[in-house]
Amino acid sequence: LYDRDGWLWLDGEWQPWREAQTHLLTHTLHYGMGCFEGVRAYAGEQGTHLFRVAEHTRRLLDSAHALDIPVAFDEAELIEAQRQCLVRNELRNAYLKPTVFFGAEGLGLRAKDLSVHVMIAAWNLGDYISAEAASLGLRALTSSWARHHVNISLCRAKTNGHYVNSMLALNTAVKAGFDETIMLDPEGYVAEASAANVFLLRDGVLHTPEVTSCLQGITRDSVIQLARDVLGIEVRERRVTRDELYTADEAFVTGTAAEILPLRELDGRHVGARAGAPLPAQPIAEDSVTAQLQGLYRRVTRAELDDG
Ligand code: PMP
Repeated sequence: LYDRDGWLWLDGEWQPWREAQTHLLTHTLHYGMGCFEGVRAYAGEQGTHLFRVAEHTRRLLDSAHALDIPVAFDEAELIEAQRQCLVRNELRNAYLKPTVFFGAEGLGLRAKDLSVHVMIAAWNLGDYISAEAASLGLRALTSSWARHHVNISLCRAKTNGHYVNSMLALNTAVKAGFDETIMLDPEGYVAEASAANVFLLRDGVLHTPEVTSCLQGITRDSVIQLARDVLGIEVRERRVTRDELYTADEAFVTGTAAEILPLRELDGRHVGARAGAPLPAQPIAEDSVTAQLQGLYRRVTRAELDDG
């Protein structure tokens, strides 16, 4: 990733990609206290467009505020910097990673008098998930690792250190031969996938876990709006149990990178099939709610539909 041409934005200055380095004593490297975003730019008919960049930038600043990390740049400056990252790097379809982190002035946990830095990296990203994979969906395993609890960490903040928990869960599932993991909150209710929110459809109603242990996903919000306003589907945000996922008519995960991916199988149960049915790798039906939402989300991200 580091050996390439391009420019990174650091605190308002441009750094050549290969030379963009940080000190070994960078505080955030040692304790994970920092926050970041994952944003996408899509090439649409009217040029490249940063999808819901205001919401992502606000979540970045909210994360920093919740973590009590002062950021010297405001929302407008950070949005402009993200736009400039696309221009400077001549990107059309891209993934951007703005990150707020502490400098290397000290390693104490009091984090006193530390400098705060903001960097933005952007790189080319076309279709992250192939059309085939987006139609076949994921085989997932419920994790033995619990997701965060509101009194252990700040679940609304996209904190670097939170991803230790995601990686433990994801890598356990991947080693066992699965694509993804579904994480439960400390009380055993469904929280989210390793880096995506989760939805289920049952009898024409969509359900998704309320925002307690899960991240308040921006794709989650887009999907709720599209389901309600375009498809006229009722959406309930509430506590969800894992057996509801097993017995759902459809289930899927949502995130900036993954967009909308069907959850085909959970813990050996084929979601949407009768008990004992085999687990064939077959595409989801074109008239399924998941496929309709995928199509709508594609149009919204490519700026063919208003995302307001
Ligand atoms: N949960 C977690 C833990 C995530 O890392 C992400 C990805 N940012 C999401 C959910 C989905 O959020 P979004 O739709 O804003 O990308």
